[in-house]
Amino acid sequence: MNSLWNDKEAAQFPGDLGLRVYTSRLLGRDPSLVLHGGGNTSVKITEKNILGEDETLLYVKGSGWDLEHIEAAGFSPVRIDHLLKLAKLRTLSDPQMVNELRTHMTRAAAPTPSVEAILHAILPFQYVDHTHADAVIAITNTAHGLARIREIYGDNVVVIPYVMPGFDLARRCAEHFAAEAKKNTIGMVLLNHGIFSFGRSAQESYERMIDLVTWAENYLAKYKAWTIPIPAEKPVAQPLRQELACLRRELSATAGFPVILAMHEDAASLAFARRADVATISQLGPATPDHVIRTKRLPMIGRDVPAYVAAYKKYFNEHAPRAREPKTMLDPAPRVILDPDFGVATVGRSAKDAAIAYDLYVHTMEIIQRATALGGYQALPAKDIFDVEYWDLEQAKLKGGGKPAVFSGEVALVTGAASGIGKASVDSLLARGAAVVGLDINPSITGLYNRPDYLGLVGDVTDEQQLTAALEKTARAFGGLDMLILNAGIFPPGCRIDALTTAEWQKVLHINLDSNFMLMREAHPLLKLAPQGGRVVVIGSKNVPAPGPGAVAYSASKAALNQLARVAALEWGADNIRINSLHPNAVFDTGIWTDEVLAARAKHYGLTVEQYKKNNVLKTEVTSRDVAELAAEMCGPLFAKTTAAQVPVDGGNERVI
Ligand code: ZN
Repeated sequence: MNSLWNDKEAAQFPGDLGLRVYTSRLLGRDPSLVLHGGGNTSVKITEKNILGEDETLLYVKGSGWDLEHIEAAGFSPVRIDHLLKLAKLRTLSDPQMVNELRTHMTRAAAPTPSVEAILHAILPFQYVDHTHADAVIAITNTAHGLARIREIYGDNVVVIPYVMPGFDLARRCAEHFAAEAKKNTIGMVLLNHGIFSFGRSAQESYERMIDLVTWAENYLAKYKAWTIPIPAEKPVAQPLRQELACLRRELSATAGFPVILAMHEDAASLAFARRADVATISQLGPATPDHVIRTKRLPMIGRDVPAYVAAYKKYFNEHAPRAREPKTMLDPAPRVILDPDFGVATVGRSAKDAAIAYDLYVHTMEIIQRATALGGYQALPAKDIFDVEYWDLEQAKLKGGGKPAVFSGEVALVTGAASGIGKASVDSLLARGAAVVGLDINPSITGLYNRPDYLGLVGDVTDEQQLTAALEKTARAFGGLDMLILNAGIFPPGCRIDALTTAEWQKVLHINLDSNFMLMREAHPLLKLAPQGGRVVVIGSKNVPAPGPGAVAYSASKAALNQLARVAALEWGADNIRINSLHPNAVFDTGIWTDEVLAARAKHYGLTVEQYKKNNVLKTEVTSRDVAELAAEMCGPLFAKTTAAQVPVDGGNERVI
């Protein structure tokens, strides 16, 4: 592991706090050191307060910030005198501690200081860095972890036996440090948790962290436990979507809310899930306390959800009486699933949560495999894990999450999603918390968004194989399908019946009608398994109730699609699938309507562009967003008891009315 310190870069971060920001970001750049808010850093700075008095403050990472992207505003200034007095108390509950931290900051708007603030305060160095370095954890989480750490570091570090994060840990660290620190002590190893380094400057503290972790890496390498061999495993070729959707439905019922099930079939994930000893090494416990909430105590092996739930209930009943106060059981659904076909599948209340669980488990797999190579992985006793899982502060964090978004844990597929109404529908569904798959023939669809809850797929809706491939990819990415927005279609140039060729007629019907029939048929088994019922929204057209001359193929295709939707509503109601249509008209902010075309059409009717856009009963412009918002609402609770509805979005059309 190399230091990323760069004098030129560092010069752009003036002042003590500036350099604290800089080296915190350097730590944050390496996921083997800190991940998803894990780890924290601090700097002690003496400042003049509003009365002109000198005051020493601990600027410590605030909650809600991660080191990779932290800014000066992400550090909470806490009066250090008070923290040092707190460190001398015999006991302090977690809620009391958080109250003390929050009421002794000098900036009211600062985030809540890290629960490890007191620990930072007691270390007598200006800069303190703390990570959950994989290499160190791989060594501490073995049978002779303590002896190995002493062998590696001697008295360069003070070693702290495992104590749950919080006030007790800070107090124990203060005692150990006072009694054991030597002149050459540059860090502190917390068994089964992580490592601290400290120094007089930001660079010194950061580079000591790099040195300490490098020693651990070298030790693993010396015992042939650093490089993890990855056989060239191949993903399963046959369709898995049905099995994934069944499993997701069962997991959602267990959790009590819809969940995303994200499959990871890279070689490293498959290799771990297919290890002969996976049922042993994966069941020993999580790598560090901060993984417990996101990945749960243990992964599920295979697909037997009832067995997993029974084991979780047993574990809860065994440990609940020993917890600090009686607790209700958290939802027992697993967050990580190891299966030879699925590889590593992760579960979350949102695609982001599932992605975080995967990121954390990638590191867990490395730690377990390295520790196994070193002689045997050993996690904390189940009781300690329970205490973390049912910890006051963690519980408060879980409850403090607010109300989940309306489509949280649900999956939508939008066709023709690269532009216009399709793209607006992607936005409306993402804004409501759904994981969204955008399908389009335009390759730009893949780059529409780069976020864990979006998947862009290039595909031709008229090709049956490409449609089933899109559904398979949707299920592998998110676990199933809840909502289908049928938007893809074409509006060919005007042509009267006398002049319309058979080929042109067939082309329009193929794209606007046949493709939707095929997709609905193939999607039906997945929609049937949607935890809260399937929803289909058809983007129809004003031409259904009020056709116009010169658009026979388009009007006929949309009218037939309308009948298709009505029959589907009849056939699929028993499967708890609703299908509703909306009929937009004159939506001009789409790809087909360039400024030139608009101007030409307006002129044709003797109107200005502005008049032409608002040429309806309400004299209002209808945008893609208006249509998309209605499409999203049709999937939501407002339309929970409605199927086969046809709603115009056209500003009012005299011929339709
Ligand atoms: Zn920590």
